[in-house]
Amino acid sequence: MPSNLDVCSAEYEEQRLQALADYQILDTPEESAFDDIVEVASLICEAPIAVVTFVDRDRQWFKSEKGLGVRETLLDVSICAHAILQPGLFIVPDTTQDPRFANNPLVTGEPHLRFYAGALLESHDGYPLGTLCVLDYQPRELTERQRFALQALANQVVAHMELMQAHREQAELIRELEATRHELAKRAATDPLTGLLNRRAFEQRLNQEVALIQRGAPPAALMLIDLDHFKRVNDALGHQAGDEVLVRFTDLCREAFRQADVIGRWGGEEFVVMLPRATVAEARHAADRLHQLLATTPMRDDISSPLFITASIGVCSLTGSSDLDGCLQKTDELLYRAKAQGRNRTVCES
Ligand code: GH3
Ligand code: MG
Ligand code: MG
Repeated sequence: MPSNLDVCSAEYEEQRLQALADYQILDTPEESAFDDIVEVASLICEAPIAVVTFVDRDRQWFKSEKGLGVRETLLDVSICAHAILQPGLFIVPDTTQDPRFANNPLVTGEPHLRFYAGALLESHDGYPLGTLCVLDYQPRELTERQRFALQALANQVVAHMELMQAHREQAELIRELEATRHELAKRAATDPLTGLLNRRAFEQRLNQEVALIQRGAPPAALMLIDLDHFKRVNDALGHQAGDEVLVRFTDLCREAFRQADVIGRWGGEEFVVMLPRATVAEARHAADRLHQLLATTPMRDDISSPLFITASIGVCSLTGSSDLDGCLQKTDELLYRAKAQGRNRTVCES
């Protein structure tokens, strides 16, 4: 906390600059909320110049200014750099009579500043950030009411900055929540082993497609794939190796089918593919590509005993009049026929 540190120490100054940076206000555009406060400060204090200024590392930067015409100045001409060294109001009734400012170029030259009154802008944890100040071209004072109003307005500047910060933090939290929600939804729809859609998510997608087809989209093709004699793979190489084969098979499916085709894991060593805007003949073509890939791609990197697998496939057309359960059952029957006919083949709806 600031009170435990020498306010002039470099460490304290770094913490103060960090507190200022945390508000993310430096170099932001002008905003009416601050301009209004500056306008009211100028009005109440009857001063031609009013400024919301922050004391940065080597400059003072103005969030809002009236009557100065610049957005920042170097620190060595800054009166605010002195103002932030003490709590509350800092008032210089006549700059020419104050040895700290008598030689200041803004006093000796344009715009000939003679009067300064600054109310401290203090961070919620007590760091001086800058001031809300009013200036005049002649020596003068502020009334008790003006002093009160200037400090009250300064407090409003900080209150507004706190709100902006809270708003930013809330927006960030909402973004994180959205990302988490998205991730959870994705996980709930994904088969953890292969990264494919799981059965539930695939069925959802299938229902959507049927609805689209009923509203006039072209028919799709539906395909069920069952790996042949997969039990033997497990028995020979173990369940873990079997899992690796399933993953590799998934890669081959991604290669065999189009980007728009939807691949799902139906369960165990059974897969399902929905090919939008595809005829049964086109689906057979894709199935043949898969058979071909399986015939030429070993499923394990073990060169001495390469492992090849085959699959049996059933293909049906998905039309607007399709009853989904009936269609899935028919595809399953065609797949069963492919098994019965000797496996490693595709049987399509005639
Ligand atoms: P068929 O040609 O008649 O389909 O013979 P199959 O051996 O493939 O069929 P079966 O239904 O007899 O056996 C399926 C095998 O698939 C048995 C099961 O252990 C294996 N299996 C199912 N899910 C997984 C999995 O997630 N990982 C592994 N490694 N094996 C699985
Ligand atoms: Mg099976
Ligand atoms: Mg099988």
